[in-house]
Amino acid sequence: MAENLSFFEKVNKNFDKAAQFTEYPQGLLDQIKICNNSCHFTFPIKRDDGTIQTIHGWRAEHSHHKLPTKGGIRYSTLVNEDEIVALAALMTYKCALVDVPFGGAKGGIQLNRNEYSESELERITRRYTYELIQKNYIGPGVDVPAPDFGTGENEMAWILDTYLTMSQDKLDAIACVTGKPIDQNGIHGRKEATGRGVVFGLEEVCSYEDDMKQIGLHPGLRGKTVVLQGFGKVGYPAAKYLTEAEAIVIGIAESDGAIYNPKGIDIEKVSTFRAETGSIRHCSDATFIENPNDVLELECDILIPAALENQLTAENAPRIKAHIIAEAANGPTTTKADEILQKRGALIIPDTFLNAGGVTVSYFEWLRNLSHVGFGRLARRYEETAYNAMLLFIEQATGYQFSDDERGPLHGADETDLVNSGLQDTMVNAYQEIREIRLKHGKDVVDSRTAAFISAIHKIAQSYMQLGIFP
Ligand code: NAD
Repeated sequence: MAENLSFFEKVNKNFDKAAQFTEYPQGLLDQIKICNNSCHFTFPIKRDDGTIQTIHGWRAEHSHHKLPTKGGIRYSTLVNEDEIVALAALMTYKCALVDVPFGGAKGGIQLNRNEYSESELERITRRYTYELIQKNYIGPGVDVPAPDFGTGENEMAWILDTYLTMSQDKLDAIACVTGKPIDQNGIHGRKEATGRGVVFGLEEVCSYEDDMKQIGLHPGLRGKTVVLQGFGKVGYPAAKYLTEAEAIVIGIAESDGAIYNPKGIDIEKVSTFRAETGSIRHCSDATFIENPNDVLELECDILIPAALENQLTAENAPRIKAHIIAEAANGPTTTKADEILQKRGALIIPDTFLNAGGVTVSYFEWLRNLSHVGFGRLARRYEETAYNAMLLFIEQATGYQFSDDERGPLHGADETDLVNSGLQDTMVNAYQEIREIRLKHGKDVVDSRTAAFISAIHKIAQSYMQLGIFP
């Protein structure tokens, strides 16, 4: 029966489960849960062949308890109001969990981007931005979009340019959107941030010996076998950094087929092959599997859904063998699948935590845009000079000569170093909070998803109380 729940109902069901472990008045819980605003835009575009088409787009601002609201924009045929509201709600809980001071939002346009030319996509994106501006759904202090499924740096640059053209406040206008190209006021590390955050998160999850023992695994990522669904902006960097951490990616599922190699897939080779052919089909060194969903059922330690919602369902969950389900996508596990997988003893790492790297680094980009100075610019050379002076002092005092390798890590931190350090700190702290909540209530009583929601509810409730709305 639970399989028939809409996406937003599913999110609310998880919220209600967690709310039982808090003592806030029902009225406050209802306010936290409800979506504050949502808007459906329709507008015409002229296709390259001269025909006119009506485009459907949405933007939802789930919670205004902190401003601006923040959330990606996706281009997918599955986009509808329920999906956008549900994703906006997840953004609220995610931001609260990782202490990023935004309310949650999400936007989307119902289309398959492969069916449109570059210039059609530009016209659609610019017109969508115009609608956002007209309805006050965008602005550095209002609502700040970012990339999501089916969108990327190009779309963010078009959004920025449209907003700049129409904005009165030119000074801070560059903070109206994140995930921008570096030379358009983007930040180093944002492109890879969600995938990198997934790996920082998994490193922390797998570092607890007793938790790993409970699911029959050794601590650490080294040697763990991984199957990945979706080789996009999240999936590709996650696979890359997992390989660097000596995990072994044995299967990758894409929308048009999958590849499998029990000895490990060469991630860069697949990335280059896909860039050249537009697909991972028949990439050498791996066996091609026609039905991508078959790969999800392979024997492996970690299964990472990194494509879309509702991928692990009551239908396929009984055949999924992974010990850890790492939700890099938003909402990949249905309520029923969650029950089946947990009953079998799998550890589910929830989306609200695991894919929070994207919004975390978007927060850094927004701060960088408002401060108009790159991270590391003021301190880097000073730190480097101080490190060198310290090393020289030690060398003179002890007679020891530091090698180049020993000196290597002691350079002044640049923007990438600082972004990655802030991201890692965020992921580690958030997981420790989740784990502490589980230990407090009992690991068998509260799962990681419920713990993540409990943490988020506490933080949002506190925020409302500080505003004096619910004294
Ligand atoms: P993307 O468009 O860059 O990549 C998605 C990939 O999944 C594409 O390569 C697509 O071909 C593939 N795919 C689509 N349907 C599939 C299917 N049925 N089976 C296998 N592969 C399939 O999107 P993305 O930005 O990587 O987002 C993926 C997920 O991560 C989404 O749920 C998104 O909401 C979530 N997410 C993204 C970010 C971000 O910063 N981009 C941040 C947080 C969460």
